[in-house]
Amino acid sequence: MTTRTLVTGGAGFIGSHLCDRLIADGHDVTALDNFFTGSEANVAHLYGHGRFRLVRHDVSTPVDIEGVETIYNLACPASPVHYQLDPVQTVKSNVLGAVNMLDLARRTNATILQASTSEIYGDPVVHPQPESYRGNVNPIGPRACYDEGKRCAETLFFDYHRQHGVRVKVPRIFNTYGPRMSPNDGRVVSNFIVQALNGDDITIYGDGSQTRAFCYVDDLIDAFVLLMEAADAVTGPINIGNPYEVSVKELAGLILEITESRSKLVYTGLPVDDPVQRCPDISLARDVLGWEPKVSLQEGLYQTIEYFERSLTVTSTMGEGFGGGA
Ligand code: NAD
Ligand code: UDP
Repeated sequence: MTTRTLVTGGAGFIGSHLCDRLIADGHDVTALDNFFTGSEANVAHLYGHGRFRLVRHDVSTPVDIEGVETIYNLACPASPVHYQLDPVQTVKSNVLGAVNMLDLARRTNATILQASTSEIYGDPVVHPQPESYRGNVNPIGPRACYDEGKRCAETLFFDYHRQHGVRVKVPRIFNTYGPRMSPNDGRVVSNFIVQALNGDDITIYGDGSQTRAFCYVDDLIDAFVLLMEAADAVTGPINIGNPYEVSVKELAGLILEITESRSKLVYTGLPVDDPVQRCPDISLARDVLGWEPKVSLQEGLYQTIEYFERSLTVTSTMGEGFGGGA
């Protein structure tokens, strides 16, 4: 069934893949973005498609989109480097953005999905993290604009659900990577790949023993669609991620191996409040959605490296190299 769908943050990394999938599934898609970290290039291939349109707008101010039936609220910078550039705006994107999109959902009777995050768990002392874990977040640290912003957005989602009957879906996304990550995004996968391809030093923050679990973007999009199609009672919060946990140093080793790069590892300071370990418990997603990731880290990295190799060739033909770095 075709639905009128709004994707906020639709010109970003995950948002653009979601738009592709929704268009392929026959939906009518409006992507809304302020282009803070996203770019028109991510959705340029959809221009001219009869069921796609792109609107420049900031979610921290209200918007009216007539007849929208489904909303995916992704508008927020996701990289620590970017969300800490203007922390007040990050809080506004999360909190005012949630209020504005929930008000829109309420007016149009739409179902709304919030792109929540594993940062809800902060620097977790329970491992792996189940949805019942309430987290360990520093409310006044440099990551708080994002972590507490996303926590407040979850609060708003469940209050609108209880108080106003809005149908909500809340996936908690763990580190996701893939093609269309921005080369200067500052996150670990894109940084290491760009550094390896350019022959630059690989910047490991701390001693590299901190862990993450990386999900390939196609697996995440499958989970979004399954969650949106699930019964109204399936609201989440629900962890979506790949439970294959690696240290940052192991990730660097894998990327060096696949790219056959001779880049050296260099060690710099660990950012404040950087979580020591992170890995999702995805039992709930397995039980309720019948979902689990299919793409191995090796395969996903291979696809992502191919994408960056192609982009690097195009960029250097244009006379520039990737900036990379955090
Ligand atoms: P991204 O930075 O590529 O995409 C975010 C998009 O939102 C960009 O296009 C940006 O321009 C847009 N945006 C930011 N603030 C906005 C505003 N106020 N109004 C309108 N548009 C705005 O990041 P991403 O990795 O694609 O993340 C998408 C969503 O998923 C974010 O909400 C992020 O918090 C969430 N998430 C991502 C990950 C991950 O590992 N990639 C993990 C957890 C949660
Ligand atoms: N990291 C790193 N080098 C980089 C970028 C990141 O060692 O060039 C580390 C970072 O300190 C963190 C992990 O990689 O421990 C994941 O960082 P990212 O910014 O991708 O996401 P996070 O999970 O911290 O939000």
